[in-house]
Amino acid sequence: MHELSITEHLLEHCISEAKSRNASRIRVIRLCIGQLRGIVPDCIQIYLDMLSEGTVAEGAQIEAEFLPVKVQCRDCGQEGEITPHRLCCPHCGSLNLKLLSGKEFYIKSLEVDIDGNKSTASDHGLERGCE
Ligand SMILES: [Zn+2]
Repeated sequence: MHELSITEHLLEHCISEAKSRNASRIRVIRLCIGQLRGIVPDCIQIYLDMLSEGTVAEGAQIEAEFLPVKVQCRDCGQEGEITPHRLCCPHCGSLNLKLLSGKEFYIKSLEVDIDGNKSTASDHGLERGCE
C-alpha cells in the first residue's frame, strides 16, 4: 500500500470538504478501513503531519476503524467473518470464497471547527480505485 499517495488524496478531499463547510480547522479525520487494504493508520498520520502543514488540516488526528473481512462460501453457502491471515470458510474450511467486504476505504466523518464551534461533518465517502 502506498500510504503517501492515499494521504495526499485524503488531505485534498478533507480540505475541500472543510472549505465547503467554512471550517477554520480540521480536528479529527475518522476513517473506515477494510482489513484487506493493509493500510496502516499510523503511516497516514505521519504523512498527514508532513503534508498538512499550513493548511486547515494542520494538527488533525487520524482515527481509524477497521472493518472486518466478510465472505460467503461458495461451497457451503454460509457467510462469515475471517481474518486476512486465515482466508478460508469459518464453517467448512473451503477456500472457494466470495468476498463481501473488507476492501473499503473511506472517510466516515470529519470533526471540524466552524468559527470556533465544533461540528461533525458527515462525509459521503472516499472510495479509491486501488483494485
Ligand atoms: Zn463453507
